[in-house]
Amino acid sequence: MDHARKKALQDLFGDRIRFHHSLAAYTTLRVGGRAEAFFEAHTAGELARLIGFLSSSGIPYFVLGAGSNLVVPDEGVRGVVILLRGLLAGVEKGPGEPPSILVGAGFPLPDLLTFCRREGLGGLEFLAGIPGTMGGAAIMNAGAFGKETGSAVVEMEVMDRRGQVFRRRRDELRFRYRGLDLPTGWVVLRVRMVCEASDPATVGGRIAVYLKRRKLSQPLDHPSGGSVFKNPPGRHAGRLLEEAGLKGKRVGGAMISTKHANWIVNTGNATARDILELMRLARRTVEEKTGVLLEPEIRILGQ
Ligand SMILES: Cc1cc2nc3c(=O)[nH]c(=O)nc-3n(C[C@H](O)[C@H](O)[C@H](O)COP(=O)(O)OP(=O)(O)OC[C@H]3O[C@@H](n4cnc5c(N)ncnc54)[C@H](O)[C@@H]3O)c2cc1C
Repeated sequence: MDHARKKALQDLFGDRIRFHHSLAAYTTLRVGGRAEAFFEAHTAGELARLIGFLSSSGIPYFVLGAGSNLVVPDEGVRGVVILLRGLLAGVEKGPGEPPSILVGAGFPLPDLLTFCRREGLGGLEFLAGIPGTMGGAAIMNAGAFGKETGSAVVEMEVMDRRGQVFRRRRDELRFRYRGLDLPTGWVVLRVRMVCEASDPATVGGRIAVYLKRRKLSQPLDHPSGGSVFKNPPGRHAGRLLEEAGLKGKRVGGAMISTKHANWIVNTGNATARDILELMRLARRTVEEKTGVLLEPEIRILGQ
């Protein structure tokens, strides 16, 4: 970004635009470099002004949720990394039946589960233990235990590259396995999710069961990004990686978990390069041994 563009951003948002801002702490893998610029948007209005300016100036931008499905490259990210906060990170109960909730894209899923339990709203318990935001869960069509985010979405508010806001009903959205087809640069603002009328004890009980199941099979004691590869059609990525003898394999501080072969953990001092190199090695090994090409589920911010 040249000086004139940086100055224009500062004129628009003052010190709320932070330059050369470290991103590792905003990701669950805890690796990676800095954002050329970083902004926490609190309203749709200021997000629209920012995105409109960036699009017309040819400056790239990326929205960061909880960074739980991301590797930030060690060399950092060019352009502006945007976090959604404030009015873009709230939750409220919707009117009418069946019960629904309107969730800001920046709202953390763990807090969503707490809200659902308190309000006695069922149906979303499968999201328990996923450390993402509502926006990240929609974009990734996050799923677990045979259920996916997309199937509970009623409608979404999205912003295009010019900063205009649209509403998209479920039948206008294309959710797929661990993904949602949205045009590049569009941002999820709010999601309406359908729930089932239940009661706090039942919802809390179901959440506890899911969390227990995760604890048994997932390496939750180290920083990670959850599953690294998608399951190929009819196959199980974890099993393919395990059968290829990859459990415990290390590159620098990154290690393929001995508990779950589809998880790479940061053992303490991993770099993004270690993680990406280990992913390449795992993919190559599985392809050589089984002929199956694994597709990454984890994304690289800025690419
Ligand atoms: C311990 C652990 C357990 C996990 N378990 C599961 C699981 O069971 N199932 C599962 O599916 N995943 C799981 N994950 C992966 C991850 O939590 C999910 O993919 C989650 O939905 C990502 O949300 P996020 O907010 O962290 O998104 P991020 O990682 O921050 O971003 C993911 C992508 O979404 C984009 N994005 C985020 N917010 C928006 C927005 N508002 N508008 C437009 N684009 C946006 C980002 O630019 C990026 O491309 C797990 C991860 C961890 C660390």
